[in-house]
Amino acid sequence: MISLVVPAFNEEENLSVLVHRLMAVMSQYECYEILIVDDGSSDQTRHVLRQLSQAYPAVRFISFSRNFGHQMALRAGYDNARGEAVICLDADLQHPPELIPTLIEKWREGYEVVYTVRQADPKLSWFKRTTSKYFYQLLRNVSNLKIEDGAADFRLLDRKVVDTLKQFKENDLFLRGAISWVGFRQCRILYEPAARYAGRSKYSFRKMLQLAAMGITSFSTRPLYLSVLLGFTMFLMAGLFGAETLYEHFFTDATVSGWTTLVLLMVLIGGVQFIMIGIIGVYLGKTFVEVKGRPAYIIGDTSEIEESVTTWQA
Ligand code: UDP
Ligand code: MG
Repeated sequence: MISLVVPAFNEEENLSVLVHRLMAVMSQYECYEILIVDDGSSDQTRHVLRQLSQAYPAVRFISFSRNFGHQMALRAGYDNARGEAVICLDADLQHPPELIPTLIEKWREGYEVVYTVRQADPKLSWFKRTTSKYFYQLLRNVSNLKIEDGAADFRLLDRKVVDTLKQFKENDLFLRGAISWVGFRQCRILYEPAARYAGRSKYSFRKMLQLAAMGITSFSTRPLYLSVLLGFTMFLMAGLFGAETLYEHFFTDATVSGWTTLVLLMVLIGGVQFIMIGIIGVYLGKTFVEVKGRPAYIIGDTSEIEESVTTWQA
């Protein structure tokens, strides 16, 4: 069995077309399921999903009790998918369903992770392209992950990898990082993104920033070492400056003229201290969130009648 997992946040206009395109592609396979995770949509998404799941037995859905974010929706998909291989793709048809047979072929060749990389696409907005490029560059520099530019959440995972991901206990799971981190035999495929079928992007600038911060802080503690480095630099500078002042005091007549330097140094040191306290605060905040051990997401509704009570997942 092959599972297709689709996160959907306010995608009412896309779902029906998506399901039909997916079914057309998947008809050549014996057994498959389409698991759509409604990430707390406020439009008719849930209603559309109920109709689709009643009309087609292959369609299942999970509905979150509120918006938990794209990464959480994918995670719920991995937790609840039943297939031997799990393929994730976006609801807006930007990830071409026609590429699915290629992914499956690679999986049958023995690859356990078949991930895709977005080809440089002039249709994509300049803003998205640049922010994405610099984000991956920064992430590669601060962590030891080897994530490529344009890596997307469009990928096939073998059951083994999905079960490994389920063992991750952290709330803030950055999947692209985690999947690169777990290893296994990985294979890369290039794809050309299509235009969004209907509606507007559901990834606001705020959500992009959140994803970036989560990616960096969950795969690196290197920013914390920055404070040590800066501390040493300041210490060295203070030493040199101190030596100079002492020399002036004892061997020259130029005495109380250093007021400007004093003020400048105070401001500088104060600023550096605030930055460092901030960095420590970010990680402390993350620890706080993880220690609470709240459920990563809450299911409010599903297509399975017997499971339609609230389910708590770690
Ligand atoms: N999405 C989600 N929760 C969110 C934001 C987005 O489940 O909070 C889904 C969305 O429905 C889509 C996928 O994540 O299926 C990618 O989002 P989108 O297409 O808006 O992002 P973009 O392609 O603009 O980066
Ligand atoms: Mg999209």
